[in-house]
Amino acid sequence: MSGVLYLVATPIGNLGDISPRAAATLAGADFIAAEDTRVTLKLLNHLNIKKPLVSYYEHNRLESGEKIVARLLGGESCALVTDAGTPAVSDPGEDLVRQCAQRGVEIISIPGPCAAVAALAASGLGSGRFAFEGFLSTSRRSRAERLDELKDERRAMIFYEAPHKLRRTLSDMLAAFGDRRVSISRELTKLHEETLRLTLSDAAALFEEKEPRGEFVLVVEGRAPEKTGAANLADALTEMKRLMAEGSSVKDAARIVSEATGAPKNALYEAAISESGGA
Ligand code: SAM
Repeated sequence: MSGVLYLVATPIGNLGDISPRAAATLAGADFIAAEDTRVTLKLLNHLNIKKPLVSYYEHNRLESGEKIVARLLGGESCALVTDAGTPAVSDPGEDLVRQCAQRGVEIISIPGPCAAVAALAASGLGSGRFAFEGFLSTSRRSRAERLDELKDERRAMIFYEAPHKLRRTLSDMLAAFGDRRVSISRELTKLHEETLRLTLSDAAALFEEKEPRGEFVLVVEGRAPEKTGAANLADALTEMKRLMAEGSSVKDAARIVSEATGAPKNALYEAAISESGGA
């Protein structure tokens, strides 16, 4: 009977984020396949685990993958880790999972840190539905094409970015999407962690002045649904009525709905008064 491939998520900065189950899986596997064995060795030392390591990274993935699959088919179990976060998410692993699935090897995910999910959760930007985009291409043309394809995407979009490309990415996004809200999470789980919630134009201006440093995840608001002014107002008034039924004053309801929708507060106030037949 073949062994199991465990996909083990590891910390994206803070070693305290390793889960007891992840540590137990690393300790229990016959061997560990790692993106960079030196990085993983630090984690194993922290956990006091000694385990044979093999290297599995972008440029040896086919050859190394075959060897790993052969060992799995021979009955050994393997824990796959990358330098940080969840394997196979903008990281090596997808091919190994596919190879294992084709050969009937059981695959078990040991969930844990993932920069995309951590940033999305903190973004405040429509996390109910989202699109994970990972890294944009480094080629100017395919970046521009991809951003153009995404301009009508309604869901929030998550991008990974390296610090030295952040400025260009922000200005390319501004050109493709127009000014939208963006949440920029930097150095998640680390000492200098921060999440900035601003607009693409403000972000571009900020990072023109300030040198981008560290690791970044960008969550960009999707395209707002187009509505006629009348439909917008009708929705806003419905929401105001709901708030007023719950005890809000007209003034408070107008303020809350205005903040949530961007509709002018005074117009909402007056529309609500005139609809209720007031002065
Ligand atoms: N598989 C990983 C995961 O699940 O998060 C992602 C690996 S990808 C090669 C590395 C990218 O993830 C970085 O360039 C950055 O965009 C993002 N990232 C990783 N760690 C991060 C952190 N601590 N804070 C912010 N972004 C991070």
